[in-house]
Amino acid sequence: MRHVYGVVPSRRLGRSLGISPIPFKTCNYSCIYCQLGRTTNMTNSRDTFYPSEEILREVETFIERYGDETFDVVTIVGEGEPTLYTPLDEIAKGVKSLTKKPLVLITNGSLFYDSSVQLEVSKFDIVMPTLDAWDEESFRSINRPFGKLNYEEVFNGIVEFSKKFQGQIWLEVMLIKDRNDSEKALNLLKERIDKIAPDRVYINVPVRPPAEKGVEIPDESKINRAHTLFGTYSIESLPKGNFLSPENDAMQAILEIIKRHPMSEDDLKNFLTPGSGLKQLEKIFSSTSEKYNIEKCFYHGKIFYRYTKKRREKK
Ligand code: SF4
Repeated sequence: MRHVYGVVPSRRLGRSLGISPIPFKTCNYSCIYCQLGRTTNMTNSRDTFYPSEEILREVETFIERYGDETFDVVTIVGEGEPTLYTPLDEIAKGVKSLTKKPLVLITNGSLFYDSSVQLEVSKFDIVMPTLDAWDEESFRSINRPFGKLNYEEVFNGIVEFSKKFQGQIWLEVMLIKDRNDSEKALNLLKERIDKIAPDRVYINVPVRPPAEKGVEIPDESKINRAHTLFGTYSIESLPKGNFLSPENDAMQAILEIIKRHPMSEDDLKNFLTPGSGLKQLEKIFSSTSEKYNIEKCFYHGKIFYRYTKKRREKK
């Protein structure tokens, strides 16, 4: 399947059926911590990258094949910033006609200043925007946004949307060592968070290989300080639980997940049942396999596999 992937275990959401409505690494940020690597298609223009019928047909096929008891939520996320896709409300409406499971949007929140984005996103049940910066300088250094985006406009858009939205806002803050974990930075972030007044705040840390070297997990004392200050939920560990894929071919299944969600070696071992594609898996395990556009990264004592843009198959 091209757009539907998972089921992926999520620290915040349980078993998440993912929908990616945009091409690989299409985003208006290039965050230094991005687990998908640097942004290769930097854009701030919304587009109908794929027909909504094509995306919804895949969701329908998945549910027919596996039933909706195999997942807890449907999450629009994927390979970059999903609000660059329009019309998102068509996707929301279509998914809601197929399952009663909550519909979640994971977004950087950068386009919420746009009233048409606000309207389309209002159809979701849970919206999870990101806030890692407190001013223009920290925004440019951590999120590295598309040129025209400016911090105050983005932040005010998130505040405005949060006030109007009838569903839940779960804000996520990515804490990075020596970037936004000082006492001063945490206090400035706290002021911004209070203005958004989200239903929940989650602290995340870079547990998967980041786009840039030197992006590190803060010391535990800093993470604890942020928890106390923000009154947060914690997600600073890798999730537990098994992946599930609609693909019959093991290698294809791994590729479809890795495109959106880097997997650790343990994830891969748990994902594959004996006999299902173990020979192909050896190719990945033995070295970085250029053929499959997968790179092998070592990070915090673990091996991760993630998708790379080079030699990507044509759309
Ligand atoms: S973390 Fe999200 S917002 Fe940041 S570059 Fe990656 S996909 Fe874009």
